[in-house]
Amino acid sequence: MSDSSSVPPPAPARQVSLELLGIVAHDLKTPITSIKSYADLVRQGGELTDRQKLYLQRIEMAVENMTSLINDLLDLVWLEGGMQLKVVPCNLLDVVRSQVAALEGFAQARGVTLHLTSGDNLTVIHADPRRLGQVVSNLVSNGIKYNRKGGNVRVHIERLPQAMKITVCDDGIGIPAEDLPHIFDRFFRTQREETSRVEGSGLGLSIAKAIVERHNGVINVESTLGQGTTFHVILPLP
Ligand code: ADP
Repeated sequence: MSDSSSVPPPAPARQVSLELLGIVAHDLKTPITSIKSYADLVRQGGELTDRQKLYLQRIEMAVENMTSLINDLLDLVWLEGGMQLKVVPCNLLDVVRSQVAALEGFAQARGVTLHLTSGDNLTVIHADPRRLGQVVSNLVSNGIKYNRKGGNVRVHIERLPQAMKITVCDDGIGIPAEDLPHIFDRFFRTQREETSRVEGSGLGLSIAKAIVERHNGVINVESTLGQGTTFHVILPLP
């Protein structure tokens, strides 16, 4: 007869599905990296017809979308799993600068110009640079995605008396007033003709808000339809 006292109690279903989601999302990264590498090889392999170039471009776009969905899912697992932070002394300007640089190619492809400015007396904060980088990346990539050719995204970082503030301001399509109260909700996406072809999971802003609040900060938004959107992130100094 087996000794039932030695059998571990079943993990709650929610925890199991969260773990499973984490494993699946993580394991999907390997085949996706492989698809991307082979697509790169095809591109380098010699002269392609226009049709082949088009198909390759579609494969690359699908890979990009899948990668960002997987990253969002991994973030959701992190969020649900208690949001552990790796807090270190952190130069916020470096964090912002590297995210803006990483999005330069995406901005150029969309015909959008990125601008980065900073105020005086910036100071080091104690924070998780990888997670704050994600906040900046989500906000700036939204500023690019929900914009038009010739548009701008301006990022400004400044020191307030008791906080550091990051402002991400775009002159893109804006957000309808009735949607503004919902944009930080998980999976919320505005339903408009202009946004129907923009890829996204509706998770980016909810993740950004959770990260900022985990740092005891505040994130808020102002927007005028057709004129643009501004996000403010305020992170308190100790
Ligand atoms: P998504 O993956 O859909 O971009 P987000 O959580 O980042 O998800 O944003 C939620 C919704 O808020 C988007 O679908 C979009 O409609 C709107 N939104 C976010 N940022 C902007 C912006 N800078 N300009 C216009 N709309 C935006």
